[in-house]
Parts: sequence; C-alpha cells; structure tokens
Amino acid sequence: MAAFGTVFMPEMAMARFSEGAWSSAEIVSSNNISLHPGAHVLHYASTCFEGLKAFRHEDGSIHLFRMDRNVARMQQSSQLLSLPAFEAPMLEQMIIDIVRRFAAEVPAPPGSMYIRPTHIGTEAAIGKAAAPTASSLLYVLLSPVGDYFAGGAKPLRLLLEENGARCAAHMGMVKSGGNYASALQPILKARASVQADQVLFCPGGDVQETGAANFLLIDGNEIITKALDTSFLHGVTRDSILTLARDLGMTVSERELTVEELLERAAKPGAEAALSGTAAVLTPVGTLIRGTQEHQVGSGEAGPITMKLRQALNAIQWGKAEDKHGWLRKV
Ligand SMILES: *Cc1c(COP(=O)(O)O)cnc(C)c1O
Repeated sequence: MAAFGTVFMPEMAMARFSEGAWSSAEIVSSNNISLHPGAHVLHYASTCFEGLKAFRHEDGSIHLFRMDRNVARMQQSSQLLSLPAFEAPMLEQMIIDIVRRFAAEVPAPPGSMYIRPTHIGTEAAIGKAAAPTASSLLYVLLSPVGDYFAGGAKPLRLLLEENGARCAAHMGMVKSGGNYASALQPILKARASVQADQVLFCPGGDVQETGAANFLLIDGNEIITKALDTSFLHGVTRDSILTLARDLGMTVSERELTVEELLERAAKPGAEAALSGTAAVLTPVGTLIRGTQEHQVGSGEAGPITMKLRQALNAIQWGKAEDKHGWLRKV
C-alpha cells in the first residue's frame, strides 16, 4: 500500500479568483498548476487547506462526512489569512462534483477517499509582504486512502513541549501551511532525541494539541480535552468523538488541562489517551515523555474506550450504525 496521501486522482475541481470575482469551477488535470515564481503563496504563505473523507457504503452509495464543518473552517482560515472570501455552496459543489466523478474509485471500508480542498494566493507581487493577494486559486484534490491502522494500532509516544508553541497564538485556528512548517523542527528533534512519534504542545503547561491532531485524555467515565479557544485547531473529529462520548453516557470535560494534572491522571491504571483527526480517526497514546522521563499512560496499550469510540465513529461513517446527528451527506 502506498504511503498516505501519495496517490491522487488525475483530475481536480478548481476555481480562480481575480479582479474581484470567482470564475465558475471547472474539472481540470491534477498533474500540475502553473504559478508565477513571485506568487504570494510562495513568499508570504497565503495558503490554507482542509481534510475530509468520503465513504463507500455496502449498497455502493458514497457519503461525505460533515462536509459543512470543513467548508466553514476553510472559510474561516481564508478570512484569517486575508485570502479572497467564497460562499460555502461554491466549495460544497466543487467537492460533490469531483467526488461524483471519481465515485467508482472510493475505496471500501476501512479505506476511504481523502479530500483535500486547498486555497492559495497567486498574485505575482513580492512587494506584498504586508498586503493580501488580489488573486487566488481554490482546488479540491482527491487521494484514495487505506487503513491507517493496518498492522495494528501501535500506541504513540508523545514528547511534551512546555516552552515552545506549535504556532503563533493568533494562528491556532487556521489550517495553514505555515503552522506545519513552524512545528516541523520540534517534531524532528523529538524523533531524534527521544524517539517520540509526535510533540504534544503545552506552552506554559497548558495541554493543547500535536502538530496535526487534537489530544484527549480518558479517565474512567470522563473524557477531558482543552476547551475551544483561538489557540488551537478545532477538529471535526474531536467534536464528533465528544458527541459520541456524550451519547454513550460519558462525562465530557472541555476545560484547561495542565501537564501536572495530565501526568497524574495518566498514571492511573485504566487511564487512556488518544489523538483525534480525520486521517487517523482516533489513535491511542501509550507514552508521555517529559524531558527524558517516560510516563506510561494506563497500561501503555490501546485502551478499550479509545477503541470503542473509534469503532462508534467508523460505524456511522461506514453506514453500519444510525446517523443520528445527520453527519453524512450522500453525493
Ligand atoms: C486538521 C487538524 C486537526 C484535526 O482536525 P479534524 O477536523 O479532526 O481532521 C487537529 N489539529 C491540527 C493542527 C490540524 O491541522
């Protein structure tokens, strides 16, 4: 199986913004785009993206999961980056059109079609370091993906970073390339120094998120995660898992979580921790590393509640459980 995100459908949906208006969307080749070397995005990082999935049900029908949330977040990211605004129905239709076109290629569960809307500033203007791009390109790429968990869910090792932040505080809610660039060196250093899989950013002791996923602590019947504020990315998976946890009668605590409390509660037998995100759904965390000190989370293995919540979400996505919250949209 090819690595996640390295196989693309040969076409994509694309719309251009210039002279104050959006072109109508078209289906074009996804082999390349043409950009001026002075394009705004290449110098001043005017870029944001989304990640959502389409699923195949047993009757062959194809369903998008919570597309409205991703489209709204893309509008928010575009606004926070001063990229041209667009109406939600425009991007929704682009997603639907391209997924319909490649409906036959949507893998069956546990695979899915990963959808990557992308918005970039294209104006050739290297003098615009402190001004927005006047033109942009919005496109929707498709990449069929398999099971992240093929070969078993090996619990992750996370290094706690209490000094540095993932990104600038006012950029946390933006799904933007610059934030991943800013988190890359800390992640590479954590891999080299303590063989961590990811860094859990906890600036000043405040447990936030990793480079590309939200963090959840599970202690018995309680699930604890940082309350929404502007400092981190509001995951659709996070919201879905919390909703399912409430449905299952769990107590959901959205509040501040300090590193001290995290380590104290994670040490209890039966404690679990997980990362949530569209790509990997819910991934168990087995070890937290503070400095050079390793702290096992509960048994250090994938916990039963993590697996139950993961299965509950997959069951809805795969059409095996009732879609009570209206999360699926048939294309
Ligand atoms: C995409 C992302 C998430 C997860 O969001 P989902 O909507 O659940 O996929 C969490 N944190 C960061 C930094 C992200 O980029």
